[in-house]
Amino acid sequence: MKYAIISDIHANLAALQAVLADAQPHAEAFVCLGDIVGYNANPNECLQLVHDRCGVAIVGNHDQAAIGSRRYDDFTPDAQAAINWTTQQLTGAGKAYLRSLPLTAPFGQCALAAHGSPRHTDEYLHHAVAIAQSFVYLRRTRPEILCCFVGHTHTPMIWQCTPEEVVSRVQVTSPRVTLDSAYCYIINPGSVGQPRNGNPAAAYLILDDEALTVTFRAVPYDILATQDKMYDAMLPLPLAERLALGR
Ligand code: ZN
Repeated sequence: MKYAIISDIHANLAALQAVLADAQPHAEAFVCLGDIVGYNANPNECLQLVHDRCGVAIVGNHDQAAIGSRRYDDFTPDAQAAINWTTQQLTGAGKAYLRSLPLTAPFGQCALAAHGSPRHTDEYLHHAVAIAQSFVYLRRTRPEILCCFVGHTHTPMIWQCTPEEVVSRVQVTSPRVTLDSAYCYIINPGSVGQPRNGNPAAAYLILDDEALTVTFRAVPYDILATQDKMYDAMLPLPLAERLALGR
């Protein structure tokens, strides 16, 4: 089966629509790794699309903040302002959908959807120590999992753990990467709605869990129109400006 794995949409409707259209010919199912809202100006529209299109979806830390199930005084001031705005915008149906989402969800032959890490929605997997601890946790709690997909850092990457428990980052030199069924992987597709890897295009990936490949994709979308909607909504200016930089 081929899955489109999307994460960190953050209420960016044009980016989400571009990704869904790009993935349609390649994917039989859609999986969302959370942070559907926060930062950008179309939370309800993005929630509706994720609800309609993603058979598997989980909650992210910004989603939790927007429905009051998490404090967010640890967010940056701009992110806090965006959550305050989002909370005022959310419909009852949008809030109910966010409340219904699990923290993690297994899918397909041997995959797991998580937001920050398999251990915690809020954990950032930037560094080797945290990654190694996540592999230990996966082996102990979910030994059947080949691929754990995470979002949260907004940065596409792959880490692998060999049967000898050697953990390393995979150097991705072409968009398609073939996985080894004897290994375990932690894979981040990057962010649809607020990429931070220097490429402003909306990022996601396709998993083929029979051929055991992942294919990273980056889709251009109308950033200027997205920024205009943010200016109209009076969202913090730096949140709009960073979209053009992919930072
Ligand atoms: Zn996020």
